[in-house]
Amino acid sequence: MKGKTHIGLGTITYVSLCDKLGGFSYIGFLIVIISSLLPDIDHPKSTFNKYILPIKNKKTKKSVYLSFAIIILWYDLIKGDMPVLRVAAIALILIAFSSHRNGFTHSIFSMIVFIILAGYLEFIFKWNYIVEYISIGYGMHLVGDMLTVQGVPILYPLVKKKIKFPLTIKMNTKIGNFIEEFILILCLIYLIYYLPRKI
Ligand SMILES: [Zn+2]
Repeated sequence: MKGKTHIGLGTITYVSLCDKLGGFSYIGFLIVIISSLLPDIDHPKSTFNKYILPIKNKKTKKSVYLSFAIIILWYDLIKGDMPVLRVAAIALILIAFSSHRNGFTHSIFSMIVFIILAGYLEFIFKWNYIVEYISIGYGMHLVGDMLTVQGVPILYPLVKKKIKFPLTIKMNTKIGNFIEEFILILCLIYLIYYLPRKI
């Protein structure tokens, strides 16, 4: 599924639930957009990596994310007593070794790691609902990819089998692209109608 479709699914879910999350927030909307794209960080050419990686290939992805992890672990060693940094470093190492859609970032365990990080930010900076925003974006990305023929290894590394819904879309085919565009248009219509009523 394309990044814009993931954003569409994440944002309509957020807009439909925002009344239960203290009302609409621009920060919330932005975090949902970012976390809707987050699982595809395992792909060297994904939206995030377009900005992060100097060269878009697997080797560079591995080296860059491992370097980030080493910097964070080094900082943790100096500062000490910041377990969240170790969680962040583990996440970065797993991203470094995750190949696209075959591993960690498309699993429920990865979502839990990011939720722990979000919970920490919420606790330290007294920001509200960060956990919910990340869960919506990340969770809807996994749901979106489960709608595709490829499915996702939702229980990786315990179970490597890819899970998908009974009805799926075959991406990068004429019909698949048409259905994806159709889903995107429905999301846009929903947002155009409901967003102004929630702001
Ligand atoms: Zn994905």
